[in-house]
Amino acid sequence: MQTLSILGSTGSIGCNTLDVVARHPERFRLFAITGNSQIELLMQQAKAFAPRYVVIADDSAYSEAKQLASEYEVDAEILIGAEALSFVASDSAVDAVMAAIVGAAGLLPTLAAVKAGKRILLANKESLVMSGELFIQAANQYGAEILPIDSEHNAIFQSLPSDYQYGDLAGSGIAKILLTGSGGPFLNLALDEFSRVTPEQACAHPNWDMGRKISVDSATMMNKGLEFIEAHWLFGVQPDDIEVVLHPQSTIHSMVQYVDGSVIAQMGNPDMRTPIAYGLAYPERIVSGVSNLDFTQLNDFSFTTPCPKRYPNLNLAIQACRDGQAATTQLNAANEIAVAAFLNQQISFSDIAEVNQRALNQLEPMPVSSIQHILEIDQLARDVSQQIIQGMQL
Ligand code: NAD
Ligand code: MG
Repeated sequence: MQTLSILGSTGSIGCNTLDVVARHPERFRLFAITGNSQIELLMQQAKAFAPRYVVIADDSAYSEAKQLASEYEVDAEILIGAEALSFVASDSAVDAVMAAIVGAAGLLPTLAAVKAGKRILLANKESLVMSGELFIQAANQYGAEILPIDSEHNAIFQSLPSDYQYGDLAGSGIAKILLTGSGGPFLNLALDEFSRVTPEQACAHPNWDMGRKISVDSATMMNKGLEFIEAHWLFGVQPDDIEVVLHPQSTIHSMVQYVDGSVIAQMGNPDMRTPIAYGLAYPERIVSGVSNLDFTQLNDFSFTTPCPKRYPNLNLAIQACRDGQAATTQLNAANEIAVAAFLNQQISFSDIAEVNQRALNQLEPMPVSSIQHILEIDQLARDVSQQIIQGMQL
């Protein structure tokens, strides 16, 4: 029996995790589930999975949570706020933590799990983008085990040799990491149409069903940029060792190219339950509910290079990766603010990259010394980005 905390259980990754967990009641029990806004769904989950704790993000939802808990006859204790998130991520009763809160809000609870030496199923890529070096150092220091859930990184993890030493590509005969991306819903959209894209169009991903923020990031390819930074920290690979490849069908989820010409790829239907099940049972394999890949139905199987004009955010992220942790934190913060403004229809789709670029121009790269410092850099970048947005007209 493995005892789990699922941070962000009401989100897309959280619901998929519970779907896999429900298929294996003999393997998993829940210590905690957490959510921010969908309190009714959270209580339905609590009813179905009987965790010891349910955590809500702040006390504005407390009375609603209490009332729904009694309606759904939930026995779990209800906790509130950031400290409670860190508590359920780090308590000694917990074996593994699914880190599936979206955005910078996931950083502190995920780090709490790292410092408690947990097995961490890492979906929250933003925490690595913000604090990669400190995060990996802490994982080594406290003996935390990081299992990548992001499908690309999970694919790379599966395609690396089992004795891969962090950062030592040459030692394993690796030539390159090939990070695949679908190109999102606007792969073929005329460039002059980009400024008229609506939030609904941006969130309608052709292959994956995801939360709204990551869906917009996939459409701008900032998601691939964040994943580039994520791969850099997770596997200790340098920017020149990572190549982004467009593969619109999302059948291959990423690959490792070896010096002898071999390429090892992980394939499957685009369904997050595959990497989630892999993380939940590692090193074993369990049924995930994902149907088998039917090769006879693969009509097209194509690969290209992303066009920088179409995806300016991708190059911003690669440059930030070269500039270091302050730059990646600044870009991540600017992007969160810009994506939220786009979803609120305050700025256009093409303005997202514009806000990100202008924020990076105004902010200085600098050495980062602590998590506290990262949080300050994050806050300043948010303020600067808000000001840039206020100065823009739709
Ligand atoms: P989502 O928006 O569907 O869900 C986010 C979850 O975080 C929800 O449970 C929400 O209640 C919680 N949350 C949001 N703001 C919070 C706050 N301030 N405090 C506490 N909790 C908060 O997002 P998602 O698509 O499930 O993505 C979650 C993470 O996984 C992201 O970091 C994303 O980049 C990553 N990821 C997602 C996918 C996917 O297929 N959805 C794939 C790879 C990686
Ligand atoms: Mg991904």
